[in-house]
Amino acid sequence: MSSFDEELRLDLQARRVQNRYRQRYNMSTPQAVNVTVDQRAYLAFCNNDYLGLANHPASIVSMQQVAAQYGVGSGASHLVYGHSKIHHRLEKALAAFTDRERALLFSTGYMANLGVISALTGRGDTIYEDRLNHASLIDAGLLSQASVKRYRHNDLHQLESLLSADQAKRKLVVVDGVFSMDGDLAPLPELSALCSKYQAQLMVDDAHGFGVLGKQGGGCAEHFKLTVEQLPILVGTLGKSFGSFGAFVAGSDALIETLIQVARTYIYTTALPPAVAAATSTTLTLLQEESWRRDKLNDVIRYFRQGAKKLGLPLIPLLPSQPMTPIQPILLGDDALVMSVAATLREQSILVGAIRPPTVPEGTARLRITLNVHHDQSDIDKLLDALANAIPATYLKSSMGET
Ligand SMILES: *Cc1c(COP(=O)(O)O)cnc(C)c1O
Repeated sequence: MSSFDEELRLDLQARRVQNRYRQRYNMSTPQAVNVTVDQRAYLAFCNNDYLGLANHPASIVSMQQVAAQYGVGSGASHLVYGHSKIHHRLEKALAAFTDRERALLFSTGYMANLGVISALTGRGDTIYEDRLNHASLIDAGLLSQASVKRYRHNDLHQLESLLSADQAKRKLVVVDGVFSMDGDLAPLPELSALCSKYQAQLMVDDAHGFGVLGKQGGGCAEHFKLTVEQLPILVGTLGKSFGSFGAFVAGSDALIETLIQVARTYIYTTALPPAVAAATSTTLTLLQEESWRRDKLNDVIRYFRQGAKKLGLPLIPLLPSQPMTPIQPILLGDDALVMSVAATLREQSILVGAIRPPTVPEGTARLRITLNVHHDQSDIDKLLDALANAIPATYLKSSMGET
């Protein structure tokens, strides 16, 4: 072994010892409630395809048809003749869906966040970020060279005291709409009011709200009825409820034109394959029109939360006014325990996400359970039984009183 490899091996070994080693498994089925992983069948509670659209026959047909017509790769960046009619049609549909003047496709949500934040801010500006924001928003702040201020999760008082003391040229407040590892919402109407009070701009990454919140699946913006004036920069990803791949930013014509001119992760990258955009156009229609998917998903979430509370599982508490989301973590705190509970569930053919630092703050390791429109009550019962058996009694709360 070279000395470089030896150095790497030592670091890897240290990760294992700290229960921070990450591992991949090989799936041989589409994303679904029942999956096969490494030749074994599992009941899955770990994907973000909440509405069950990742393997929908209609979007598969759209993808096949457009691949036959346009080929597999887009072959170029959007600005140098890689932007097709198929991309354009999807952007128009996303603008109408979000009730914004325009929408712009990005290749991934990670790239959308890097591109938007670094295009809109620089030296002399300040970015305000919730401590629990997604890693891509945090990384974007670093890349922008603006000053970054992180405030305690959903702490409007701390945010206001930071905003009121700041003389920055431009102020940008950035949050997850639905926090990806907690499943709770940002208080967007209050954040929007603070932004207008202190001449700041609000940017929301609603990766997990689109599809599941709002009557038509319009996410947090629809749920809270936020106009483009109240929420000028709206990011959505297409790999979660949309069941496809990619991301978009929706906003005013001036915002989108600015991003086309200066967002480096838009300019210097290959456009999505048109066939992927075509599949997304189809899932967008399904996501909007088939509201039964949201109704059914909400039933599944409610059934899980009721059972979990009965068992005293440590759920993330929700304010009564907050809608439930499909992200329902079980907060255990201890990395080793999270790993061992996830392994015990795996032995019983159940998959849940085992989430440790640095994805979540130190001391807040958790099982990230995600629910799906296609789970039925017997699936949830199996999960609850397995959790009740695998989690030590000292981690269970008395089931009295809590709602
Ligand atoms: C998944 C996710 C992203 C990244 O989106 P990709 O398209 O997967 O790169 C960004 N923000 C949040 C909140 C996410 O959950």
